[in-house]
Amino acid sequence: MCRYWSDVVQRLVPYIPGEQPARADPIKLNTNENPYPPSPRVIAAVARELGQLGESLRRYPDPLARRLRETVAAHHGLKPEQIFAGNGSDEVLAHTFRALLKHEKPLRFPDITYSFYPTYALLYDVCYEAIPLADDFSIRLEDYLGDAGGVLLANPNAPTGRALSLADIEQIVTANPSSVVVIDEAYVDFGAQSALSLIDHYPNLLVVQTTSKARSLAGMRVGFAFGHVLLIEALNRVKDSFNSYPLDRLAQVAAQAAYEDDDHFLSNCQHVITSRERLRQALERQGFDVVPSAANFLFVRHASFHAEALAKRLKDRDIFVRHFKLPRIDRHLRITVGTDDECDALIAALREILD
Ligand SMILES: *Cc1c(COP(=O)(O)O)cnc(C)c1O
Repeated sequence: MCRYWSDVVQRLVPYIPGEQPARADPIKLNTNENPYPPSPRVIAAVARELGQLGESLRRYPDPLARRLRETVAAHHGLKPEQIFAGNGSDEVLAHTFRALLKHEKPLRFPDITYSFYPTYALLYDVCYEAIPLADDFSIRLEDYLGDAGGVLLANPNAPTGRALSLADIEQIVTANPSSVVVIDEAYVDFGAQSALSLIDHYPNLLVVQTTSKARSLAGMRVGFAFGHVLLIEALNRVKDSFNSYPLDRLAQVAAQAAYEDDDHFLSNCQHVITSRERLRQALERQGFDVVPSAANFLFVRHASFHAEALAKRLKDRDIFVRHFKLPRIDRHLRITVGTDDECDALIAALREILD
């Protein structure tokens, strides 16, 4: 506390990201990054933009990321005006809270979900209801069919990994015609159904995606929102009242190149999905309960071993997994699917610790 702080800052509860270890080569299974590098075309595009002398860097980037948005639009069969690009989907989500989710009636999201949501609600003074998930961590559809101030769902959900079907999402969107339904699809490419196909039909649906997970570009900070042109205009109004240039030149060309290499993207996703199933079976053999996952991580609980202690013992061996000290999930660990070698090292370490 400090008397110079504003009221808002005194009340904030900032989001705590997973640890980024200082050592160069830990086994890092705690922040859901992709274990594989981005497409070689990304490296080439960044090098081309940089050139010999970095000549382009003295100029501001395109404030609207037009070429990137055109590429992404063509990829999804949409119009560029239906796409907003921001500095990571975290920034896109923050603008969404400001632009579309602050109303008199409370915003609804699950009690167990991406822990940035309540943080944004506090920062932007958005009232919300955290709706309890069922005991198996599934979303109870009927909790989101009333008329709320807005609905925000991660699909697949984090940190559980569970996914809703497209039919369920359409039902929620239909049941909330007077408020915005936001679907955060950070992990959708690892096995869930995207709601992008619905945005032409529903003016109240906003889909948020990122290049951080399935496209291996967490370090570049590029995220998107997809929706009706008027929803996108709302986000642009907030952006242009905050920072006109959220995406730097290298981020724009890197993300564009990533969308131009579908083969790399698809084989990368398939690789992670195959490794996820292999890791799931190995963990189940070791006595873990594993929540069904459509994401690039597994949410697991050991029948007898304490989760926080387990995370600590793994960290002593330079293996990082995520433990949340939160009600209902403090006996669980969230484990990112790594390379097969990393998963094998995790399983070997767990075998030693559990014995
Ligand atoms: C990782 C993640 C994000 C943030 O992604 P960035 O684009 O890297 O900011 C958003 N939502 C969920 C549910 C995530 O897990």
